[in-house]
Amino acid sequence: MQIQKNIPLAQYTTFKIGGPAENFVIAKTIEEVQEAVSWAKEHDQEIFVFGGGSNLLISDSGIKGLVIKLDLQILEFEENKIKVGSGVLLSYLLNQALEHELIGLEFAAGIPGTVGGAVRGNAGTYGRAMSDVVTKINYLDENYLLQEMSVGQANFEYRHSIFKEKKYLILKVELELAKGDLVAAKKLVQERLAYRQDTQPNQPSAGCIFKNIAFSDQETEDLKSRGIEVEKFLEHHKIPAAYLIDRAGLKGKTVGGAQVSEKHANYIINTGTAKAEDVVILSSLIKQQIRDKYNLQLNEEVQFIL
Ligand SMILES: Cc1cc2nc3c(=O)[nH]c(=O)nc-3n(C[C@H](O)[C@H](O)[C@H](O)COP(=O)(O)OP(=O)(O)OC[C@H]3O[C@@H](n4cnc5c(N)ncnc54)[C@H](O)[C@@H]3O)c2cc1C
Repeated sequence: MQIQKNIPLAQYTTFKIGGPAENFVIAKTIEEVQEAVSWAKEHDQEIFVFGGGSNLLISDSGIKGLVIKLDLQILEFEENKIKVGSGVLLSYLLNQALEHELIGLEFAAGIPGTVGGAVRGNAGTYGRAMSDVVTKINYLDENYLLQEMSVGQANFEYRHSIFKEKKYLILKVELELAKGDLVAAKKLVQERLAYRQDTQPNQPSAGCIFKNIAFSDQETEDLKSRGIEVEKFLEHHKIPAAYLIDRAGLKGKTVGGAQVSEKHANYIINTGTAKAEDVVILSSLIKQQIRDKYNLQLNEEVQFIL
C-alpha cells in the first residue's frame, strides 16, 4: 500500500475543484482499507474517505490527514441478490444488473459515483432511492471494527442515512432486485439518460447543490400564500430547489468561475476556473435570496468539505 503526499484532489471530483490531500491512498480491498486505517492511527492522522467524488466540494486548501479513495470492486450475483463493493460505479452496477436480467435499479440511471457514496447519501430519483433496494451493509465502525447492519438500522430518509450521522466506512452492500420486464427496464433507462442529457448541464458540477424542500398537506395553503405553485408538486410532496432558484431569477448568476446553470437552476457549474470559495459564496447568496423571497431555507445536498 503506497501513501502518496500532496495529491491534488480536483482530479478526483466531478466539480474539478479541490486542493491537495496531505496523505492519499487508493484502497482496493478490505485488507488495504484496514492497513490504511492502521497507518493513520500510527501517524495520528484524521481519515477522510470518498468514492467517485461526485457529491463533494473540497476546499481550495485541500484536506489534512489521510484521504482514502475507497475502490472496492466486489460484484457477486446470487439469484435476485447482489453483493457489491462500495467502490463499484453505480452505472456499472445498473448495467450488470440488467445483464443478469434483474430490474429495480433503473432509478439510478445517470447518477455518477460509487455504491458507497450512493448508500451514504441515499441517492435516488423520481421518488426511488438506494433504501428501496439495499438489504445489508458491511462497514467499519468508529473503532474501525468490521460490522454489519440491516437496511432497517440505516436511518434512511430523503438523501440521508446513518452514514451521515456516524463516521462509518461502507465496504460492501447487499441489494435485492427482481426478475421482470427487461425490455421496459432498458427502455426506461434510455429515456432517463436522454432526459438528463436535455435538462442537465455537462460542465463540471456536483449535481444538485440543494435538497428539494419536503412539505406536508397542512403546509400547502401557507406555501401558496408565499407565491409557490404547490399543486405542481403534490406527487412527491417536494418543492424542487431548481423551481425556487429559477423563479428568483438566479439562472446565470456568477461568482468567479462558479455559475448557476442556465440549463438547470439547482446546478452550480464550474465554468473552468472555479474555486471552492466561489461556490460557497454563490450558494450562500442563493440561500439568502430564497430566504428573502420565500422565507424558505435551502440545505446543501452536496458535501462541503471546507
Ligand atoms: C451530473 C451529476 C448528476 C447527479 N445526479 C444525482 C441524482 O439524480 N440523484 C442523486 O441522489 N445524486 C445525484 N448526484 C450526486 C452524486 O452523484 C451522488 O450523491 C452519488 O451517490 C455520490 O457518490 P460518490 O461515490 O461520488 O460520493 P463522493 O462524492 O465520493 O462522497 C460523497 C460523501 O459520501 C462519503 N462517502 C463516499 N463513499 C463512502 C463510503 N464507502 N463509506 C462512507 N462514506 C462514503 C464521502 O465522505 C462524502 O461525504 C449527481 C452528481 C452529478 C455530478
